[in-house]
Amino acid sequence: MDHFTYKDGHLHAEDVSLRDIAAAVGTPFYCYSTATLTRHYQLFTQALSPMPHLVCFAIKSLSNVAVLKTLGNLGAGMDVVSGGEYLRARAAGVSGDKIVFSGVGKTRDEMALALNGGIRQFNVESEPEMRALSEVALSLGKVAPITIRVNPDVDAKTHEKIATGKKENKFGIPISRAVEVYAEAARLKGLRVVGIDVHIGSQLTDLAPFAEAYQKVADLTVLLRAQGHTIERLDLGGGLGIPYTRGNEAPPLPADYGALIQRTLGHLGCEIEIEPGRLIAGNAGILVSKVIYVKSGEEREFLILDAAMNDLVRPSMYGAHHDIEPVVQPAPAHDRASYDVVGPVCETGDTFAKARALPHLAEGDLVAFRSAGAYGAVMASEYNTRPLIPEVLVQGDQFAVIRARPSFDEILKRDTIPVWL
Ligand SMILES: *Cc1c(COP(=O)(O)O)cnc(C)c1O
Repeated sequence: MDHFTYKDGHLHAEDVSLRDIAAAVGTPFYCYSTATLTRHYQLFTQALSPMPHLVCFAIKSLSNVAVLKTLGNLGAGMDVVSGGEYLRARAAGVSGDKIVFSGVGKTRDEMALALNGGIRQFNVESEPEMRALSEVALSLGKVAPITIRVNPDVDAKTHEKIATGKKENKFGIPISRAVEVYAEAARLKGLRVVGIDVHIGSQLTDLAPFAEAYQKVADLTVLLRAQGHTIERLDLGGGLGIPYTRGNEAPPLPADYGALIQRTLGHLGCEIEIEPGRLIAGNAGILVSKVIYVKSGEEREFLILDAAMNDLVRPSMYGAHHDIEPVVQPAPAHDRASYDVVGPVCETGDTFAKARALPHLAEGDLVAFRSAGAYGAVMASEYNTRPLIPEVLVQGDQFAVIRARPSFDEILKRDTIPVWL
């Protein structure tokens, strides 16, 4: 469920007409709904309410500080994967003891940044990382709280680029080696083991892989405790999928996911951490774009938009589907045309949709890409020297630009000319 609906013939974000935002900030732009972000976060806290828990928003899915502050004010923790994301969480007012640090390639500088600033735990992904973290912590006179990310070797049945829980993936340590790696962690003076971490992939539309992974985590908890380790926290990662196509069967709900966690792990008395990104942010955001031209090719009609693959890369990178809707509500019994929806970037990969049935559209019309809140703005680039597009946050009948479009001056000033030129 989201808060982007037609009212008085125009698509709105909550109570704000997207036509008004377009007039104020220009197109293309991202627009996020506070009510949807809030609702999705609360679905998770409700789902986990029988257990001690912390919902850590995966910042990498949508990292604007205003969005983080919105969630942080509700009590959310944050899952960061870089020093930059750590600083974003802190800039949003989230305290270090609510931030978990994930990722396979944390540098010593990033470790020091988080140790000095305060951190709930590092989710350590390898033995070399574990040794480096211990050294960094000791050099700062600190002890780093850690979980170790185990790779449970389960098939998440998702897109290959976002599956992370198979043994051939780069993530975590093989669960079969957990006993020896935990034993080494316990010997390292700069570390304090607090739990276990697992994250098997993104956009999972079936609970079965979660059930398989979490059962393995439950067994490992018992095993590690028997060997004297303190396992008081289980970080279960993110990954719950969202409906990208309206009318299709919806993925499992957070409530079902919470019940699964309760069933597989609830009896262990651990604090449960989860790291959802896409489910909180995905359907809380849209991308609004304008039709530049309608071009009739020999075999098909092209809808050429002012948004492109550099603004929303998911279709080009993952073959992902985004529903597209006109901002002006189509008449109830409208004719449909079949369009290839493309951007202006100079490569064929800059295609959002092929042969998409849409109401007839004309130059200047606005369209909205649904489900663009997660892995949208954060993956944007300035390819073709197209400025990063603005982000707008709506709350009720108010909206605010939370990242402005840079001017060409600002973009050009970032390049510097060496003395010999
Ligand atoms: C990407 C990622 C997440 C978030 O995944 P979603 O599918 O967006 O919920 C959580 N934890 C880790 C370690 C990740 O890499």
